[in-house]
Amino acid sequence: MIKKLAVLGSTGSIGRQTLEVIREFPERFKIIALAAGSNVELLVKQALEFKPQYLVIGRQDRFLELKQRLDSFAAQLPEVKILAGVEGFTEVATLAEIDQVLTAVVGAVGIKPTLAAIMAGKIVALANKETLVAAGSIITEAARKIGVRILPVDSEHSAIFQCLEGRTPDGVSKLWLTASGGPFRSYRPSDLESVTVEQALNHPNWRMGGKITIDSATMFNKGLEIIEAHWLFGMPFDEIKVVIHPESIVHSMIQMVDGSCIAHLGLCDMRLPIQYALTFPDRLKSSFPALDFLDRIQLHFEPVNPELFPAIDLAYEVGRRGGSLPAALNAANEVAVAAFLDGKIRFTGIERIVSGVIGDHQKERFQSDPDLEEILAVDAWARRQAQRFIL
Ligand code: MG
Repeated sequence: MIKKLAVLGSTGSIGRQTLEVIREFPERFKIIALAAGSNVELLVKQALEFKPQYLVIGRQDRFLELKQRLDSFAAQLPEVKILAGVEGFTEVATLAEIDQVLTAVVGAVGIKPTLAAIMAGKIVALANKETLVAAGSIITEAARKIGVRILPVDSEHSAIFQCLEGRTPDGVSKLWLTASGGPFRSYRPSDLESVTVEQALNHPNWRMGGKITIDSATMFNKGLEIIEAHWLFGMPFDEIKVVIHPESIVHSMIQMVDGSCIAHLGLCDMRLPIQYALTFPDRLKSSFPALDFLDRIQLHFEPVNPELFPAIDLAYEVGRRGGSLPAALNAANEVAVAAFLDGKIRFTGIERIVSGVIGDHQKERFQSDPDLEEILAVDAWARRQAQRFIL
């Protein structure tokens, strides 16, 4: 059977690698919709190759440009429908003809389309961790109620998902998330004051988009992933551990109640977890490179230095407090990372801004059991607060 897909965030790093996977298995997948944030040129190129029925551009102000570009390819794409904005993402995520939605947008902007896809009964392959961090209880509750699966694309969570397959939850005592430690793993905390955008973007192992690469350098990425794991696997925060593993070969582990560990290993190639999220429960032979144990691979593990990476303790605290606090952490981090990439703040300013917004959150009277509207309101509030720290 051909699986019909909507790919949200098709021009980003995960989106492009998703299309590489789909190109590998043309007999298994058909793309019905491609949705991108702002990259009109690449979206048109992808449309010419995959011939979707729907195209979405997130930036409303690029809609006309997309329309004009497509006019010159009218012969190749005679019936393509063009949409714009978050509403466009939501519309294609709920199309009757779609079986599965892959959400690879960056940031809390993914909340609405992801929730809509779940409510419409679509299988969701989720690469958009910010959605689970900000609205984890709403998203997972909706998936449980409707009876749809959320298949993790994040490599650590895909690894844990695969380790857990076929096991009963009461046999599992801990989840171990591995972290590369990013480019600054061996720095002293005081060295971080002067690091540049270029240094922070230089990830040792993974090829990824700008936002997640900076998140890896601060380790807010792992902080977000702790919260993501809590919601995906229903595991208490005390039983989710983080360990630095510089080679990124062990993608994560589970520990059983008898003490034994089951790990998932592979090369640092996002196409692997993307492929599994698309083909689950099947495994398909691909032409992508595979791990070779005769390649003199080395595996090292070390604890996180909390003074160098305060993001980890902060994420545990925020996750345990819950409510809308994780949404505030995520939104403040999104704003701070953008400001750092724009050269407006120092690297260490990211943590300072996130901590500041979290501190301010306690002073406001936000609901302890937030609904979607409240989550989105806190997200907007935290973005404004974070901006005030930047100006
Ligand atoms: Mg990850």
